[in-house]
This record gives sequence, C-alpha cells and structure tokens, in this order.
Amino acid sequence: MSSRNNPSRIKSHRNYTVIDISDTLGVHPKTVRNWLKVGLPIVDEKRPLLIHGADLKVYLKQKRKAIMFDCEDHEMCCFRCKQPMKPSIESVLFIAKPAGMAHMTGECEECGCRMNKYVSWRNVNDIWLELKGKLPIAEKHLILRGQNLLNCPFDGVFNDEK
Ligand SMILES: [Zn+2]
Repeated sequence: MSSRNNPSRIKSHRNYTVIDISDTLGVHPKTVRNWLKVGLPIVDEKRPLLIHGADLKVYLKQKRKAIMFDCEDHEMCCFRCKQPMKPSIESVLFIAKPAGMAHMTGECEECGCRMNKYVSWRNVNDIWLELKGKLPIAEKHLILRGQNLLNCPFDGVFNDEK
C-alpha cells in the first residue's frame, strides 16, 4: 500500500481530476477535495476541476513536511490521507505509558488507517471531549496498567453522566 501513496506516481506534465488523484494515490476523493479547500491550486474554474501534476507534487511535498506539526490535539497524522485526521470515536484507545504519557491510537475516520501518537494524560479528557462532545470518556477507551492506575486522572469522570 505504501507504493500507492507515492507522489512520484504523479506526472508533472499532465492534469488530473480529483478522481484521477484519488485513484493514483489511493486516497479518498473527499481527501483530495479537502486539499483543494486548503490550498492545492486548480488549473481553472471549469468542471471537472483539474489539478496540474507539478502543482500536486509540490503540494504533497510541502504537506509531507508539515504533517507532523499540523495536528490538533484530537487529530493524528494519517499517512494514507496524508494529513491530520480525526480518529473514529469507536476506535480510539488511550494506553497508559510511563512519565504521565498516553499512547493514543485509533482508526482514521476517513480511510480506516491505523494512526498513533503520544499525548499527555492531562490532555486525554480534553481530547476525548473534542472528539465526542459532552459525553464522559468511556472506560473501554482507557487502558491503564500497574502504577499508572494510581495516577489515573479520571476519578469520577466515569460516573459523571450528563
Ligand atoms: Zn486516513
């Protein structure tokens, strides 16, 4: 699958439609439309929208550089969508790690790709609320081990139904 993600499959001298790009890179058409919204240039305003290959290459190169730094707290970098994505709420897990850290893992809402990052336990509840709205974090989304149980920052949160 990694070869499908390769921007070198894009040819600089031809134009691509959204669907062409989606097929060539193996990303969802919605993802490509999102790139257009956030700065990928189009050739002109005619339909179907066309994107010049050279523009796309530059865009993907810049995106690859920026991807690690662009994530909001509740987003993770999806390497298939090539941008920060929200995980689907059912898939999110926070696994306790030493030193007050949590390993956040989940599946990309868009493509189902597994995503990972490290966050501070302090932020886990905020991240959860951002993803899910008002509901308290569900116990099945937390994995605490050994010592980390003692430092569980979620006392009372489980019972705090609104
Ligand atoms: Zn994705």
